[in-house]
Amino acid sequence: MNQKCPVCSGELKKDIIKEDIRIDGKLLVIGNLTAKVCVHCGESIVDYNTMQKIGNLIDKFKHKVIRGTEFIAYEIDAAAPISA
Ligand SMILES: [Zn+2]
Repeated sequence: MNQKCPVCSGELKKDIIKEDIRIDGKLLVIGNLTAKVCVHCGESIVDYNTMQKIGNLIDKFKHKVIRGTEFIAYEIDAAAPISA
């Protein structure tokens, strides 16, 4: 079963991505996420499992217990520019 990009039907390639999530005015950056990325338009798709992990991480982040996760997660000043 080969999944296609929902946006442009392009080919999806497995890649490691970074997600920026805004929570309560702060910016949480989660790196080291496995996703499928469209080679044409760059749309990234994370699977259900990864989505759950992101959810857990956001929960931990809100409760300030973010250490010891498998992801590279850090908080940056939301006003600061995001360096690629
Ligand atoms: Zn696409």
